[in-house]
Amino acid sequence: MNVYDWPYANELGNVEELTCDVLVLGGGLAGCYAAIAAARKGASVIIVEKGAIVRSGAAGSGFDHWESACTNPCSRVSPKEITEAYIREQDHYSNGIAHYIECREGYDRLLDMERFGGKIRDDEGEFRGAQFRDEQTGLMFAYDYVNKFTLRVWGTTFKPALRNELQRLGVRMVERCEATALLTKTVHGRKRGVGATGMNVRTGRFIAFQARTTVLTMSRPARVWLFDPDLLGLSEFRPPQSIGSGHAMGWRAGLEFTMMEKSVRAEFSAAGRSFPPYGTGNNHNTWYASTMVDARGVEIPYVDRDGKELQTVSERYRPAPGQKFFLKGGVIDEAKYEYRGPETLNFNELMKRGYQLPFYADLSKMPELERKVIWGMMVGQEAKTKIPILENYTKRGFDPKRHRLQSYGSGWQSASFLGQERQLFGAPGGVFHDWDLKTNIDGIYAAGDQLFASDCCGLAAATGSYAGRKAAAAASGMEQQDLSRADIEAEMQRLYAPMYRKDGMNWRELNAAIAKAMQNYCGEVKCDALLQEGMALLNRYMENDVPNLFCENPHELMRTHEVLDILEVSKLILNACMLRKSSSAPLHFTRSDYREKDPEGDCNFITIRQENGRVIRGDVPLGYYGDVEKEYVKRNEDYIREKEKGSDCRG
Ligand SMILES: Cc1cc2nc3c(=O)[nH]c(=O)nc-3n(C[C@H](O)[C@H](O)[C@H](O)COP(=O)(O)OP(=O)(O)OC[C@H]3O[C@@H](n4cnc5c(N)ncnc54)[C@H](O)[C@@H]3O)c2cc1C
Repeated sequence: MNVYDWPYANELGNVEELTCDVLVLGGGLAGCYAAIAAARKGASVIIVEKGAIVRSGAAGSGFDHWESACTNPCSRVSPKEITEAYIREQDHYSNGIAHYIECREGYDRLLDMERFGGKIRDDEGEFRGAQFRDEQTGLMFAYDYVNKFTLRVWGTTFKPALRNELQRLGVRMVERCEATALLTKTVHGRKRGVGATGMNVRTGRFIAFQARTTVLTMSRPARVWLFDPDLLGLSEFRPPQSIGSGHAMGWRAGLEFTMMEKSVRAEFSAAGRSFPPYGTGNNHNTWYASTMVDARGVEIPYVDRDGKELQTVSERYRPAPGQKFFLKGGVIDEAKYEYRGPETLNFNELMKRGYQLPFYADLSKMPELERKVIWGMMVGQEAKTKIPILENYTKRGFDPKRHRLQSYGSGWQSASFLGQERQLFGAPGGVFHDWDLKTNIDGIYAAGDQLFASDCCGLAAATGSYAGRKAAAAASGMEQQDLSRADIEAEMQRLYAPMYRKDGMNWRELNAAIAKAMQNYCGEVKCDALLQEGMALLNRYMENDVPNLFCENPHELMRTHEVLDILEVSKLILNACMLRKSSSAPLHFTRSDYREKDPEGDCNFITIRQENGRVIRGDVPLGYYGDVEKEYVKRNEDYIREKEKGSDCRG
């Protein structure tokens, strides 16, 4: 074992054992809501978080809007309507279960948040009189001001409020602990989750968790194609501690995944390629619907879905004549005609008409409250813009009443990427599940970004809470199982191995090598020969380089474990790509050896899992979850009853 100089105790090799009914792995939005829901059902709960719950996860530093709050008092759409719109928008490669839970229960979770101390409405009347503010409730809306189902929220207040609630409910928070493996056992002939292992990332202490049920909320893979060794924290869109460990440990344990063949050309990576997400002047998301101007200061027109030029700022927030509602944000890139909202004129058309780059967001041309809600509130609440953009630019004299903020890339994006620079962005693949958000392994549930085709805060909160209450209900009928000493010993050996070496390869080198391999062999255009070459290369890394990985302290050891998980996930992705023998537009999946796009027989969810190293494929119809409303109602009568009574509809 290496001797190291370190501010924390050396606990490498020490073992702690903890027991609970419900174990939640990952303390982001989904994990916190899961733990709260399970604790409210009377379960004893442990939540394991690699960082500090108060600020961890994609929403830790904030977020500015909450999607699909279809049951808020001002909404003019139903949960079913919006869920089905999402499903159609994604050509049915969508998660009908998770979206319906989001649309049906998301607003309940916001009301929870308000009780916990988070800010979800403009109580002070700061935006009184604005078109996007409801005068009675103080709720504030984004995008579609007519249908009012996306809320502007003060996301920076949410994680501290959740942590306080966890503390109040007596949930045991095991922070600075990376979950590393799922423990399973065969019970009555079926595989069951019986707990997990973890390591304190400061001291190296090993922890074995024994649990009746487990909820996975460790987000999605990252740093598979995009990696910058010098700017680690900026390599990807999501925070650096989320790299897909939940997927890797799930794959090792035999969990089933779907849509893992889907990756998109990267949209955000601040490392060399782009500015911080939502940090440039643009017209999307946080910045919707900023006035845009070209290099000469000439205003760029907004058009509705029929190409009609809009004359006022107010029209940018309304559906077109004959359109019920439009979709924006999260998983929506270029919406289908049915759901397409107002947008600045197409880039090629702008070039034809002589508009000149660079473009800028010019908030000075907007009504005062629209300017203030973008530059003051949204940019101030959004995850990566609060300090780098709002605070720093303001300190340096940026005044939105007088100055413009530039766009980069060819248009109003933050950057341009190459085809092989890919990302699991938007609604990528993930854990496959049933209506209880249960995986194929008994006792193991999942929620939030770890689910397939899932994204956004409302979805994470709603599915987290839902999975927590289902996991608590299941736990009450399950016996606690003994943990296997052999499994624990084997995991300890795997985890500590890089600390026993005196020299070798470090985690940065391996991460860079994996990213290069994935860009070369699993880029924009794929074929069997390339994918197999990629797999052979990753296997060589596994055989030749993994045994040489070396690190000097528990923090580097954690980083090393992350890269081992990235390697595992990369192999999962290559395997999934090899299974689909056609190309697919909605999956952004192009094969040179199978060029036909979305042939009828192939429009299925391909599921993938491994058993003793053998890859096992399944084919599931795209609409496997049935009629979303009926299926939800069948399984959630207790929740609906409580809500109707107005007593306690809390997760
Ligand atoms: C820059 C940015 C802006 C966004 N803006 C918005 C927005 O305005 N509106 C919106 O709806 N959505 C937004 N999103 C998306 C949204 O934040 C996420 O979809 C949501 O927070 C997902 O919640 P989650 O709990 O599933 O994952 P996360 O909140 O990311 O939580 C995962 C947690 O698991 C922990 N973890 C990871 N691995 C391990 C491990 N091995 N052991 C223990 N813990 C582990 C992580 O530390 C993290 O705390 C944004 C995301 C980003 C990155």
